[in-house]
Order: sequence, then structure tokens, then C-alpha cells
Amino acid sequence: MRTVYIKTYGCQMNEYDSSRLADLLHESHGLVRVPEPDAADVLLINSCSIREKASEKLFSDLGRLQEWKTLRPHVLIGVGGCVASQEGEDIRRRAPYVDLVFGPQTLHKVPDLLNAARRTAAAVDVRFVEMEKFDNLPMPRAEGPRAFLSIMEGCSKYCSFCVVPYTRGNEFSRPFDDVLAEAALLAGQGVREITLLGQNVNAYQGRRHDGRMADLAELLEYLSCIEGIGRLRFTTSHPLVFGDRLIGAFAHLDKLVGHLHLPVQSGSNAVLERMKRGHSVEEYKAKIARLRLARRDISVSTDFIVGFPGETEDDFEATMALIDEMRFDLSYSFAYSPRPGTPAAALADDVPRAVKEERLARLQAVNLAHARHISEGMVGTTQRILIDREAPRGRGDLSGRTENNRVVNFPGEGGSALVGRFATVRIVEARPNSLRGELVDREDPVRPSLDYTLTERCS
Ligand code: SF4
Repeated sequence: MRTVYIKTYGCQMNEYDSSRLADLLHESHGLVRVPEPDAADVLLINSCSIREKASEKLFSDLGRLQEWKTLRPHVLIGVGGCVASQEGEDIRRRAPYVDLVFGPQTLHKVPDLLNAARRTAAAVDVRFVEMEKFDNLPMPRAEGPRAFLSIMEGCSKYCSFCVVPYTRGNEFSRPFDDVLAEAALLAGQGVREITLLGQNVNAYQGRRHDGRMADLAELLEYLSCIEGIGRLRFTTSHPLVFGDRLIGAFAHLDKLVGHLHLPVQSGSNAVLERMKRGHSVEEYKAKIARLRLARRDISVSTDFIVGFPGETEDDFEATMALIDEMRFDLSYSFAYSPRPGTPAAALADDVPRAVKEERLARLQAVNLAHARHISEGMVGTTQRILIDREAPRGRGDLSGRTENNRVVNFPGEGGSALVGRFATVRIVEARPNSLRGELVDREDPVRPSLDYTLTERCS
């Protein structure tokens, strides 16, 4: 048996890419994905450039692999993802023992690159070739009741701090019917919850079989009709293109969860302006207010960058005021550091590191307190969860997720046969990283008929 080990850094898009790459290499080369590198015949790193000093970290990882490879000269080493897209041929120049380099849009070329690397010395392909990737990946194999489904890639917003438009290219959307076909296939494999992925997922504009373009709201309506799919999520969104139709989807689509990740980055208009976000704090708040009219109990998480160039104490206090007003759930926050090649990298990085760290600690403490408050408020309520696995710490517990993405562990009467079913649990305790519950009711298993038609919507 020949094997592949894939190390994935970064976001859910990269996780999705890695699992599709594993499917592809299984189909093309019979490679079986293994969890440890030592037994691998092919070792791939799917890199991410969101982290600080991402290239340096990649090269230090590769440095450690140099000796590893001398002991295993038959192993092919490949680097993909956003850092590969940025560095291209330079990866081979600095680490000549790397055999192949591929970008996020040339994933589908990896089988050919592997063949070329075996025949000759090395193979590099980091072009932006829009739909080619999706046209050439095999249909996915589900790995449980929850699955990611990538519906668009790239970003055309060009926020001044962000590398994504340069590493993944401009926005492009997968055809509408291709997405529905993949979702129906996943449902047939036992998937009950789908998270639609895209760097800017609400910018989705997919061509339908009749030539008309469909937006994310329409896609969600059609996905809601697929038998077996009980829940839909999407991430990540941009406030600028969050229109009325999408807000309306939260009012009338029961399968769309009452949880949304909508990055704001800062509570100061001056900072948002320098970030080139294209929206103000007031516009962001207005969108959330309309969302809460559509779905009263919607929980909203967000992203913050602290210490962006020129951020004053007043700017930071405006961010803290926004957090207090909006009471975000489970938000992500980072201290700013420049990313090479972005417009913000040309600005003076003038907020001292100690100030950034102090502001970040204050902001995270408040966000954490809000998230805990929300968890504690759930104690005594009943929640619908999707049971997705046996709890990792054993004792026969099962584990599932609520609509607002909290893990609930509960005594698993019925055992692993309940995995993949929706159930109602009563929340009895809020713990730091999970909730404790007890089973109230379980729903019948769903066996989709798979005769889904792509031309009719149900809502
Ligand atoms: S919208 Fe998101 S992905 Fe696009 S440039 Fe801005 S931060 Fe980057």
C-alpha cells in the first residue's frame, strides 16, 4: 500500500482542499492518506499565509525535512497552498529537495506533478486557473455527518492587510448545478450538515443550467430542498455584500442555522478606512440589526485585528464599545503584523508590540466573557444538536453541535448508532470549552431517496 501524508495549515478552505486532494490522489495513484509522516511515500504541506512570518515558518519546516529526506530518498515532498502561491519557484531554490510546488488553484494538477517529479527533477505549477480545479477533482467522500463544500474561491475586495487576493486570485464561483450535485451526493453518503465555504462566500454568483446567475440566497433555498440535509451554514462573509435577499433567508429557511460569522475587524471608521474594508461601523451595525429582525436569536461571531497601523487608544476604545454593544459570540482576534506584498505593509507599523499585546488581551478577555455568558444562558434550555461522533474522552458519551456551534457532550444511550442523527438535549452545565447535556429526544434517521432534481426549489 502506498501512502500520502498531508499537513494542513490555516483555514477551513485549506482543510477542504486537503481532503479533496487526498481523494484525488487515492483515485489517481491509489495513495492512502495516513496520519503520520514516517510511513508516507508522499509528504505534502498545504500552507497558509495568514499567520505572521508564514514563509519563514514554512522554510523552517522544510529545513527540518532536509535530513528526514536524506534517510528516505524515495519520498516525494510537495508544498501547496497560499505560501506556495506567493513563493513559487523560490521554494525550490531555497529547498531543492522539494519535488513539487502547487497553488490553491492547481490542486488538480498534483497527480501530473507527482508523475513529472518522479520522471525528472521537480515540478512547479502555481497558476490561477479558475474553474479548472473544480472540474478536475473527483466527487468527495464523506467522513462523517458534517461536511464542507467549497462554492467559490478567491477574493476581489483587496482589504489593505490581506494576502488572499494575491494568493488565491479574484472571486470566482462554481456553477450552481455542480454545487447542488455535490451536496446531493454528500447527503446520499450520510452527511446531514453542510458548511458552504468561500473566502467571501456571500459574493457567490453561480451560473445555472438555464444561463441565469444565482446568488447565495437562491443557492441556500435549493440546498434546503435536498432530502437528508438538515442544516446549512456558510462562512466567511463580508458585510458589504450582505444584501436583503440573504438576510431574508434567515427569516424563511429553517435549515439555515441561527449563527453567522461576519468579520468587522475594527470598531473605528478611521481604521476601517485604512483597512479599505469598504463599509463603516454604522453600516455593519445596521446589517446586524436587520439580521436580528429576521432571526431574533441569531448569534454573531466576528474577527478583529488589533494594533493596525495608526490605531489610537480612541480607535481601540471604539472597538471595545462595539463589542459591548453587539455582544459577539466566540470571536477571533489577532495582533496586526504586516503581510509582505499587501498595501498595508507600506504603512508604518507604528503601534508598539507591547501596546498591541495589551489591547489584544483586553479585547479577548471581554469577548471570552461574552461567549461564556451566552453558554451559561443556554443552561436549562433544550437545543437541537447534530450528533457527530462519540465523545473523545470515552465513558460512552456522545458529542454533537448546537446551531451556534457549541459542542455538547451527553450520556450516549443508544451508542454510536445515534451518530448522524439530530436529537434534542437539555443543557445542564456550561464548561469552559463545551456544554454538558442530557438526551431528551432523538429524531428518526433519514435515508435520502437520491432522486433530487436540480430544477425545482422547495421553498
Ligand atoms: S474580504 Fe476577507 S479575504 Fe477578501 S481581502 Fe478582505 S480580509 Fe481578505
